[in-house]
Amino acid sequence: MSLIVQKYGGTSVGTTDRIKAVAERVKRTVDAGHKVAVVVSAMSGETNRLIGLSAEMSKRPLPREMDVLVSTGEQVTMALLCMALKELGQDARSYTGAQAGILTDDSHNKARITDIDTDAVMADLNNGMVAVIAGFQGISNEGRVTTLGRGGSDTSAVAMAAALKADECQIYTDVDGVYTTDPRVVPNARKMDRITFEEMLEMASLGSKVLQIRAVEFAGKYNVTLRVLSSFKEGDGTLITIDEDNPVEQALISGIAFNRDEAQITVLGVPDKPGIAYQILGPVADANIEVDMILQNISGDNVTDFTFTVNRTDYDRTMEICKARAAELGAVDVSGRTDIAKVSVVGVGMRSHAGIASKMFSALADEAINILMISTSEIKISVVVDEKYLELGVRTLHDVFELAQA
Ligand code: ADP
Ligand code: ASP
Ligand code: MG
Repeated sequence: MSLIVQKYGGTSVGTTDRIKAVAERVKRTVDAGHKVAVVVSAMSGETNRLIGLSAEMSKRPLPREMDVLVSTGEQVTMALLCMALKELGQDARSYTGAQAGILTDDSHNKARITDIDTDAVMADLNNGMVAVIAGFQGISNEGRVTTLGRGGSDTSAVAMAAALKADECQIYTDVDGVYTTDPRVVPNARKMDRITFEEMLEMASLGSKVLQIRAVEFAGKYNVTLRVLSSFKEGDGTLITIDEDNPVEQALISGIAFNRDEAQITVLGVPDKPGIAYQILGPVADANIEVDMILQNISGDNVTDFTFTVNRTDYDRTMEICKARAAELGAVDVSGRTDIAKVSVVGVGMRSHAGIASKMFSALADEAINILMISTSEIKISVVVDEKYLELGVRTLHDVFELAQA
């Protein structure tokens, strides 16, 4: 007998019929002799609908109340799934994040899980019940509802799996595994049977939304066996492995990730003196805004341009901060744009091979795609381009690195 955590994403529970299909899959797993804890997302579109409602109330709703609002989506699904399971003769009980003992810090809208008290869920599993847990949510020290950031149900599932010492954490979604790139953008992308944690971590952090990055971090840290698979069709999916020497997938480049949620800000004509980067980015960091890429031009006339990227949702706030700073710093102006995107090639095999960057840049140049910014690490190269070239860029790189299905 194994203990399995199964997570079902928005599309997988998108209609009542889909929820019934999920109930059947859960029941089959129980009938095969396993203990099953299920983590559910909101029905597809529901989280966005709730965010839309909040926008009608306020431009800047309190993060605390946003969490109360958006956490309701998952609670609808958990109750419906328990009802469907009961109809199949399977006892099941629903759990909000708080009821499942998922404790977080108090950073609303992007809370981190600090601890999980599994007693209640474990007792149900030991009694032959299925525990159905609302993903994406937890409870803070102050007893307030928190949420874990978009895509956070993945992290709820992996954290639950770690705390319950589950044998496997299965992430059921609308694709049958992790592909060389988003199969919606490149239809002949190839499904991988395995991918290393390290590569999955890069892919997720560079925008591949198939797994939330914190879920991958958690799985790596607590050694959770993690698998991505389809709730729509049978198959073994993709196993996220620790084994880096696995000869099957020791490819040079394992995938292409991209991210549309980028925005670029340039502080123009800042006096070029020590401490400038800190003086611009310090207040941005203080506002809890994450900066991604940074570029400082070589100065002429003792002034320089300072460019960086942030998440598009942080664009307005960052602009405000920079405009306020610009006056104090004696900068000429602040400009920005949100029609940019980031494309990255990822692969552990890159470490030992020169020439990946030049191959990437020349392929983009052949398509007349202008590169706005570049950043590299040992196992990835990222470029920022005009958003309108995103798909073309991804397809071009997928071709030039020969990642397509054989
Ligand atoms: P869920 O609602 O189940 O959490 P998501 O929409 O969050 O599903 O994630 C699944 C989606 O991730 C897929 O439909 C696919 O478009 C996208 N995706 C992006 N990159 C990849 C990739 N490399 N492999 C597979 N899917 C990817
Ligand atoms: N419902 C939440 C979202 O859309 C969490 C999730 O589905 O993982 O972001
Ligand atoms: Mg998701």
